[in-house]
Amino acid sequence: MDVMKPNAIRDLLRLGADPRVISFGGGYPDASLFPITELEGIVHEAVAVSGRDTLQYTVSNGIPRLRQQIAERMTRDSIPCAEDNILILQGAQQGLDLVAKMLIDKGNVIITENPTFLGALIAFNPYEPAYATVRMDQDGMDMDELELTLQRNPGAKLLYTVPDFQNPTGVTMSLERRKRLIELANRYDLMVLEDSPYRELRYQGTPIPPIKSFDTEGRVIFLGSFSKILAPGLRLGWAVASEELTQQLGLLKLAADTQCSTLNMSIASLYLERYDIDAHIKTIRETYRRKKDLMLDTIRRTFPQNVSFTDPSGGLFTWLTFPEGFDTTRFMADHALPEAKVAYVPGATFFPLEQRVNHARFSYSTQADEVIVRGVSALGQLLTSRSPN
Ligand code: PMP
Repeated sequence: MDVMKPNAIRDLLRLGADPRVISFGGGYPDASLFPITELEGIVHEAVAVSGRDTLQYTVSNGIPRLRQQIAERMTRDSIPCAEDNILILQGAQQGLDLVAKMLIDKGNVIITENPTFLGALIAFNPYEPAYATVRMDQDGMDMDELELTLQRNPGAKLLYTVPDFQNPTGVTMSLERRKRLIELANRYDLMVLEDSPYRELRYQGTPIPPIKSFDTEGRVIFLGSFSKILAPGLRLGWAVASEELTQQLGLLKLAADTQCSTLNMSIASLYLERYDIDAHIKTIRETYRRKKDLMLDTIRRTFPQNVSFTDPSGGLFTWLTFPEGFDTTRFMADHALPEAKVAYVPGATFFPLEQRVNHARFSYSTQADEVIVRGVSALGQLLTSRSPN
């Protein structure tokens, strides 16, 4: 982060560690939603009943039963596929690394949304890509600008998108744009990485089919995750891709870490076998919808009018835009943390190229209802007292 000096970062971390600070910064799911009792029984079963299998090595692409279960779920979500199209990953995060390892040589262009998921940039950067960014609005990536970007970078290798409830903006790509994206990808021979760990956390409106569902040329790799619908500590995600790409990625997975934990894959598989994960996801959605409404209502009531924010239909984040020239990193270090005892993620780091300082990502997932109201109100009061209007 060039916007901050190392000392400023240290001060921020020190202030952020203060237990009185209310943080809307992290992207963690709400731990009170983990199905602990169910998992406790399953962990016992996985070891006591089938320990000779679950504590053994397995195939690098992941235990077949879990791959079948994921393929069934993805097929229901408009991506017809089978076990051989699924690679189990150490979280979707590993997919970002392996796909870049497979496709990117130094200097190759990766196109991203602007802003984009910071963890993806961290995964891609070691492969030394060049970035081209495309503007977003409330319907996701702007396809006219994407077309211009492709005309300017005809050899671009990979497009990275988080089409559902994007991290950091909470924005969802419209159906029309998903179809146009595929047309452009086909025309410019572009690979697409569709990263969608929040897809099942939709709490309003109708689901929009994944970009992968429109892919007729095997150029989309879809990433899913158990992190937000079960538990991130299991470190389980998956890729859906053509058989050929799944095999190639599977070899890279073998080289990286042999396989995901057999025990953890068995736990996830048994959970899907024994329990209704869709009923569980419904509870998660209801909780996040309530928290999102609470956060947005409190922002509306207490923040100055010149701060705008997105109203996501799912996921964990809202994205705030402050007036031009307002620096959210400085404001957090100088005022939000020391005076209101509130933390958020300053927006600058989510921009791959030129960093914009007047945005912030707020997460409503982890704090209790009354803490959301208290923290957002404290920040609102502080902003209002400093704002000229
Ligand atoms: N992609 C996006 C957009 C994310 O926000 C995250 C983290 N929440 C990940 C990928 C990685 O998730 P995981 O590795 O836990 O599946």
